Amino acid sequence: MTAPTRWTLADGRDMLFFTLPGHVAAPVPDRRPLAERDPTPSQLRYDRTTGQWVIIAAQRQDRTYKPPPDQCPLCPGPTGLTSEIPAADYDVVVFENRFPSLAGAGTVPNPPAEGFVAVPGYGRCEVICFSADHSGSFAELGPTHARLVVEAWRHRTADLLQLPGIDQVFCFENRGEEIGVTLAHPHGQIYAYPYLTPRTAIMLSQADQYRKQHGSNLFGDLLADEIADGRRIIAHSEKFTAFVPFAARWPVEVHIYPNRLVHNITELTADELDEFTLMYRDVLQRFDRLYSSPLPYLSALHQYNDTEAQREGYFHVELMSIRRSATKLKYLASSESAMDAFISDVNPEAVAARLCEQAT
Ligand SMILES: [Zn+2]
Repeated sequence: MTAPTRWTLADGRDMLFFTLPGHVAAPVPDRRPLAERDPTPSQLRYDRTTGQWVIIAAQRQDRTYKPPPDQCPLCPGPTGLTSEIPAADYDVVVFENRFPSLAGAGTVPNPPAEGFVAVPGYGRCEVICFSADHSGSFAELGPTHARLVVEAWRHRTADLLQLPGIDQVFCFENRGEEIGVTLAHPHGQIYAYPYLTPRTAIMLSQADQYRKQHGSNLFGDLLADEIADGRRIIAHSEKFTAFVPFAARWPVEVHIYPNRLVHNITELTADELDEFTLMYRDVLQRFDRLYSSPLPYLSALHQYNDTEAQREGYFHVELMSIRRSATKLKYLASSESAMDAFISDVNPEAVAARLCEQAT
């Protein structure tokens, strides 16, 4: 893999072009009259009732919402006047979000026990375009192109984990209008948070307790249990395993684990990254074969740094969909949204069997 080509947008945002073998990135100057960026576009407010930070990013209300296809800001813009990406073509491109939820550098203090606590929303939000093809999807990328996206994730994770004050790097994709995607162009996002997100904090706490009681890693033992049980395994190769988790919360949910403990994607070998790409793509292709239309989904890369506090973290991907039948979506209602008590209408073993039938 060759190093990405660096570029700068009209308002100073960083951009990186990742190219397929034999291709050369050819950006042109971004000539749009963009407004100066707000150095602190958001606030973190501390919710003392839950001990969790909430990001208040009010300016995001103005962001681009479902533009017509001929005005897509993620399609190539050869003139440097019409798009976020000033180039006649590209393979994979990453750039800082114009409407970030987090920006700037600094550290978030341990919140005091009283008063209304608000601090600048430090961190970084990036957009990653998987392909210049507006109507494509990750599942439809060729293996070499999909591997390039994985390489971009690896590169960004390594870079962003080094930023001062960053506790967690989250690569993710929201796909489908059903889950509120505002741009149809195939793309994902990368958030660098200045604190541990609530779900990650809970999972690490569970894993720390498990280590004290059993002397081993929670995630590794769970993976071994899923493999031994076998009823929910979707795919199992030398280096990776995909399964529907025993206590799946979503109508379609698949987790992909490497067969050995690594904290994040940067610790995977080149061979492992190759195999990961193929399995990830295979699972997404099965998703799209489940119904007559492509499955809306969320994809979440769970990553950890190598500090003592995150030592038990085990890199894995959690994929989930709200589609529970050809015509019905699962909405998060009171039990889920107010109480975080999930109710699933489908049997995880039945979902696993259906996904196994979709194998090629
Ligand atoms: Zn587009």
